[in-house]
Amino acid sequence: MKILVTGGAGFIGSNFISYLVENYDDQIINIDKLTYAGNIDNIKRFSSLVNYQFYRGDIRDKKFVDKVLDKDVDYVVNFAAESHVDRSIDSPNQFIKTNVEGTQVLLNRARECNLKKFVQISTDEVYGSLNDKDLFNEDDSLNPTNPYAASKASADLITESYYKTYGLPVNITRSSNNYGPYQFPEKIIPLFITNILKNKKVPLYGDGQNIRDWIYVKDNCRAIDLIMRKGKVGEIYNIGANNEKSNLELTKNILKIMNKSNSFIKFVSDRPGHDYRYALASKKLKKELYWSPTTSFIDGLKKTINWYQKNKDWWEESK
Ligand code: NAD
Repeated sequence: MKILVTGGAGFIGSNFISYLVENYDDQIINIDKLTYAGNIDNIKRFSSLVNYQFYRGDIRDKKFVDKVLDKDVDYVVNFAAESHVDRSIDSPNQFIKTNVEGTQVLLNRARECNLKKFVQISTDEVYGSLNDKDLFNEDDSLNPTNPYAASKASADLITESYYKTYGLPVNITRSSNNYGPYQFPEKIIPLFITNILKNKKVPLYGDGQNIRDWIYVKDNCRAIDLIMRKGKVGEIYNIGANNEKSNLELTKNILKIMNKSNSFIKFVSDRPGHDYRYALASKKLKKELYWSPTTSFIDGLKKTINWYQKNKDWWEESK
């Protein structure tokens, strides 16, 4: 199989390529613009492989996309995105350009090819905020509350429309918050781990009661691979691991594993429009494709902390 991965120099994309390399002999083409979040060090380990090629470029660049997405490609997995909510609040434009327009350039080209599947990587944030009781299902309405989430929701709708209008074989995956190796140290888990490694306090938004549902990145990659190969065409799949933690609980877990006291916590003023809770029901994925997560929250956190402890060179410069 020939698989085009976009955004493969980022956090989840590079872990996904690792997963493919460890499990298959597929031909892999990675395209990435290498924004601040893309890191050539994330993909150095693949460069000697004969079945791997990397091209630097923008998914909004039609000429570039036409060249790399050739007619022999079987699968496209679109990870490329602007992905940080805080940045989207400060300057939303690039989020619309990459996440919406870039996805459409890929979809347009995909229509001219003979793809088995176009997999759009989306997020639980498209559903908006949740009260205490429920879980989000795939057919719940979209209710994004920040420009990042709105740009991802827009891309989901456009992707779905290409299935419904043109019959393009698509899947959309909506996962909860990922954590693991190679995540840029602006997101909460790597930010807090690397702050603590530098003996600095960790800035916790508001009262720390906002709840997120965490999934270890390898569990998400295994789900995406299953959906790409076996998911029913046209379906949306939630990918969650049922690890709901308040940000305060998460922070205390990190501090405990790193043998630090809670005095490292510094409460800071809340993010505007900060969603209270995200949590996903992943029944469809479990029932149809027999997926379940294999990494417990604490084991995943220990592995992640260990990785940042051992890879100071990787994160020190970006920090
Ligand atoms: P990331 O920011 O680490 O990586 C994004 C990658 O896309 C980077 O390598 C960047 O250089 C590349 N990129 C950005 N703009 C581009 C463009 N115009 N053309 C080509 N490449 C471009 O993000 P991530 O955390 O790995 O997230 C990957 C995908 O998964 C995103 O679509 C995100 O919305 C989604 N997602 C992430 C999470 C999470 O917890 N990280 C959860 C759910 C969904």
